Order: sequence, then structure tokens, then C-alpha cells
Amino acid sequence: MNKKTKNIIWIIVAVVAVALVGVFLSDILNAATELSFTDFMTKIGNGEINTLYVDGYAWQGMLVTDGRIVASYTTVAPSIYDYASLTTLLQGFENVGVSVDITFTDPNAGSVWSSLIPLLGVVLVAVMFWLIMRSAAGGGGANMSINKTKAHVQSNLKVRFSDVAGAEEEKEELQEVVEFLKSPKKFAALGARIPSGVLLVGPPGTGKTLFAKAVAGEAGVPFFSVSGSDFVEMYVGVGAKRVRDLFDMAKKNQPCIIFIDEIDAVGRRRGAGLGGGHDEREQTLNQILVQMDGFEANDGIIVMAATNREDILDPALLRPGRFDRRINVNLPDVKGREQILKVHARNKPMSPDVNFKTVARITAGFSGAELANLLNEAAILAARAGKKTIGNLELYDGINKVLMGPQKKSRVVTESDKRCTAYHEAGHAVLACLCKHCDPVHEVSIIPRGRAAGYTMTRPETDDNDVSYNKLVDNICMSLGGRVAEELVIQDVTTGASADLQHVSDIARRMVTQWGMSDKLGLVAYDSDLPVFMGMEYGNQSRGGYSQETAATIDSEIRRLITEAHERATKLLKENRSIMDNMSRVLVEKETIYTEEVQMLMKGADYKEVIAYMDEKEGTHRDNPFASMTTPSPEHVVKEENESQE
Ligand code: ADP
Ligand code: MG
Ligand code: ZN
Repeated sequence: MNKKTKNIIWIIVAVVAVALVGVFLSDILNAATELSFTDFMTKIGNGEINTLYVDGYAWQGMLVTDGRIVASYTTVAPSIYDYASLTTLLQGFENVGVSVDITFTDPNAGSVWSSLIPLLGVVLVAVMFWLIMRSAAGGGGANMSINKTKAHVQSNLKVRFSDVAGAEEEKEELQEVVEFLKSPKKFAALGARIPSGVLLVGPPGTGKTLFAKAVAGEAGVPFFSVSGSDFVEMYVGVGAKRVRDLFDMAKKNQPCIIFIDEIDAVGRRRGAGLGGGHDEREQTLNQILVQMDGFEANDGIIVMAATNREDILDPALLRPGRFDRRINVNLPDVKGREQILKVHARNKPMSPDVNFKTVARITAGFSGAELANLLNEAAILAARAGKKTIGNLELYDGINKVLMGPQKKSRVVTESDKRCTAYHEAGHAVLACLCKHCDPVHEVSIIPRGRAAGYTMTRPETDDNDVSYNKLVDNICMSLGGRVAEELVIQDVTTGASADLQHVSDIARRMVTQWGMSDKLGLVAYDSDLPVFMGMEYGNQSRGGYSQETAATIDSEIRRLITEAHERATKLLKENRSIMDNMSRVLVEKETIYTEEVQMLMKGADYKEVIAYMDEKEGTHRDNPFASMTTPSPEHVVKEENESQE
């Protein structure tokens, strides 16, 4: 090693050290400590927080002295706060000298330190890179391989569609992609536009990765995979370079699949969120977009990506020519669970008395991965007990093991949760049928979707978008149905109705303040159509749009509308209690019902009758849920998001 190389190495070591100190310092200054809501409130009380940014339920509190952020905390506000109590709460903070702001922008932008230090780090790292490059050019440098694509390439994947159970619709959609990969030239010759990007959206463990592999396996093409999280926490420019290398490599191996797992890690909406310094991620994302735009029509590359947070993705990713095909991969229903269990039991010796139907029934809320895990646990238990086959005993213990597992704890769906959700949804559905101005019910389900524990979908009969007073009042009544059902049956309320209540107060508020639907207040628009969240428009009072007195009248009018609807909902559900009872029993058993069953129940059919009817025609609904509808438009509206207790 000559003297020159030695010097360079010392310089690199020094620069790295300085850069690390810089990064470390900026971390201290920016790092927000996540607090429980109670602890957060205590800090406010102690004066340890004097600046508060409220962004929906996400709150950030900071101690700012002389324009410098000394400490920073985050918390998630409980969703129980309604408009009135939240306003009171925030006003209380202002009274003790906390500056409160509702913001959707970067609260750190004002701090010189927080923007300067990462910049310093960037400059230092850039210098370091330059030095490395120079020494490499001189022939004496070490071969640093951080620029190499860390993509995994798998060429002869053995995964087939038959390994993915219970997702027939998804398979059908992906079949097209398989055909294309088998003979891209054929499609190109006919001018067919094949999606260059397919986005798989669904909760963890539902088989998104499995699906991507199955497509590659079915088509017999190489499978390049990277994970979005590989790209974060990297030096500026490296992520973009990796993306380039990955696509170059893929182009040399056409036809093939590029799979980007956890794309939300790089594909977050740009320019959003607290704290700056996402340059690296943005560059990586931009590079992905550029590469996808550069595809020729006959390029045999399909980019697949998976996420469970579609809502935070940058809209640019979803534009035509990019990830313009989207496939929802949901948690499996009873039938799906049974099929998944069977797939994973294929090479396991099962005791003949095991009934997968029963196991499927009691594992509501389990993902495919959890079901696979359950069978694995059961196999381990059987082996330990010195058995030759896996029996019911091991399966039940396996379920408990998975239920007690770390990830599962938060969203266990017990029989009593299931019953509660069933009543909640039945309450909505029955009221939707009884209220004359509500749209017809199209689907009622207690399968969790997103953050909702269940859902009731209604579908308008016409394209008529006009909303009348009666329609709004009925909508409020129907939306309260879930809560009222809980009050009547469980004699206790859960937090499950919080999203409903938000929806209800939002409508009532708009009726009073925007649409002139309150006699007391008359035809005056008090609010413009500003973004509403948590059912409130912050700052109206302070902006002096109207007097305190008017504000009080508005509040009382909103309350009156909701109270009246609540009384009507209670009366209707009491009178039709037996319909609700029957419907919830069918829901517990079948998990999802459609127009036809709802109508049977509304006419007074017994739950046994409906279940028998469904058993008989099992499957036809799943294949085509629109079959029983009169108009062909597949449009439907998700009327409510009934949040589960997470
Ligand atoms: P995701 O990528 O959606 O988080 P994975 O594809 O990684 O989920 O699934 C993890 C495992 O769970 C798979 O390897 C498979 O064993 C099992 N699994 C998930 N869904 C299914 C399914 N529909 N059929 C069979 N197995 C499944
Ligand atoms: Mg995965
Ligand atoms: Zn609800």
C-alpha cells in the first residue's frame, strides 16, 4: 500500500466519523419520541410542550426555545373526541400558552438546525464518495459494492397458481399477465396495451408475494425482487442507481418480472409528512417512475409491487403507464380459509377426524400466512407428542399459539367480537332497508377490511347525485344503526362506531352550516367547503366568521338532528328486532350476505332458512356478486368505515 492510498483512507475515516456525528446530531434534534396520549398530556401540563401541531389524529408536540426545537414528541389522539370536546381541549391548551396549529405542512421547516445538519451530512458524504471514486480510478481503492443491486433473482420458480388458495378472482386477473409474459410479441403485434405495472394491495400475510411468484412460476420467467425497505436509510443517489441497475438487468433478461415489495417504503406521497430529509426516498421513487415510463410497448417486463398502505402512495405511481392495474388481495373468507388450510395440509399427515370446515369457521380474521403458521405449529406439537398424524387437539393448540403471537394480539376476532360486529352491521343494513330514501343494500359483511371490522355497502339505483333533506336524514339514521344495535343488544357500546359518528356529525354539520337545512339558522352558508376532519373546521371561531351565539345555535341544531335520528333508529330497530337477530346469526355463520339474502330476511325469513338457501347455491354469489342486480353498473359505495379496535 503506497503512501497516497494510506492518506486517502485516513481522510475517508475522518470524513465518515464527522458525517456520522452530523447524522447522529440531526437525529437527536429531529427524533420525536412516541408517547402515550396520557404522557403527552402530562408533558403539556408540565409546560414541556409549548407548540402543538395537530394533523388529524396524529399530534406532534414540541418544546421550542429561541426558535430551536429542544424536544419533540408524537402521539395519536384517541378517536373518541368529537368536534365540541376537541375544540374545548385545544382551546384549553391555548389558554395555558401552548401554540396550537392544524397543519398539513412540515413543522420543522422553520428550524434552521433541522434543515442544515442533514445538508451538512449530505455534503460530507458527497465528498467521501468523490474521494472513493478517485481512489478507485487510481486503481488502489477497495471495491465498494454498495451500488450493486441487491435484487434477488430466481429463475425456475416452482410456485404455481394452485399453491395460492381461495383467490379465484385475483388469479383470473393475473392470468392475463401470465399469457403476456409467455409471448409478449404476440400481444404487441396486435397492439394490445398490457399493464406495465400491477399493484397488489392487501393486509400482510394475504399472499401478495406468493401471487407475484406464482405469476413468474406460471409464465416460466425470471423473478427479480427487491423490497422498498432496502432503499431507505441509504446514501443519496444509491437507491436511484440501484433502481437503474435493476431495470437494466431485467431488460437483459426479458421477459421477466420485477417485484417491488413494500413499495410504500419508497412510494410515499412526496412532500408530505413531518420532518424533511426524504431526498433519498424521493430520488428512488423518481427513478422508478422514469424507468417505468421508459418501457417500450413490446418490452416483456411486468413490474409488480405490493403494499398494505395504498392510501399513502404517491398518486404519480398510479398514473396510466405505471401501476395502472390494481388487484385487491383481501383476508380470506370461510371458504378461502378452508382451501388455504387444505393447500398447506397437502404434505402433512392429518388425522382423518380433522374437519377443515370447522377449523376455518373458528379462524375468522386469520390471514393465509397465519393459517400456514397454524398448521406448522400443529405439526410441531404433534411431533413433540410423538404422534404420527396431526389431530384436532394440536390444531386447537396451534390456533391459540398463533392468536397469542405478537402480531396477532391486536386484531383477534373472537366469537363475541364477531357477534358484536354482526349486530352492528345488521343494524345498518336493516335501517338502510327501512328508510325510504336510503340506497338498496348490496352487501353486508363482517370480514375485516382495512381498518373496518365489517362493512355494509349500498348502491344507488340511479346516477342521480342530488341529495335531498330526506335523503340526508335517512343517511344519518342508517349510519347510527350500528351504534344503536350495540346499545339494544350488547347493552354496552364499543369504539367500533367512532367512524360512523364522525360521518354523522359531518353530514349534520354541513346540513346546518352549508346547505341551509335548519329552520333556526335559515338559508345562510356559514362555512365554505373547507376540508373537514374529525367533523370540525378548526379556526372558524377565531376567524370571526360568526358570533359565539351563532356557534352555540349551530351546535344545538347539529345535536338536534342527530338526537332525532337516534330516536328514530332506536324505535325502528326495536320494532324489527327479530329481523336484526336473524340477520346477525346469518352473518356470524356466513360472514357475507348479498341483496337477495337481505331481502329474504327483511320479508321475515328465519336464519336457518336463509343459511340453508345459501348452502344450496354456495359459490354462485362469490363468482358473480352482481348477478342478482338489475342494472349492470358495478359501482357501489362503501357507506361506512367501522373501525376495529386497533
Ligand atoms: P404478503 O406478501 O401478502 O404479506 P405472503 O405472500 O408473504 O404474504 O404470504 C406468506 C405465506 O402465507 C405464504 O408463503 C403462504 O405460505 C401463506 N399464504 C398466504 N396466502 C395464501 C393463500 N391464499 N394460499 C396459500 N397460502 C397462502
Ligand atoms: Mg410479502
Ligand atoms: Zn358502522
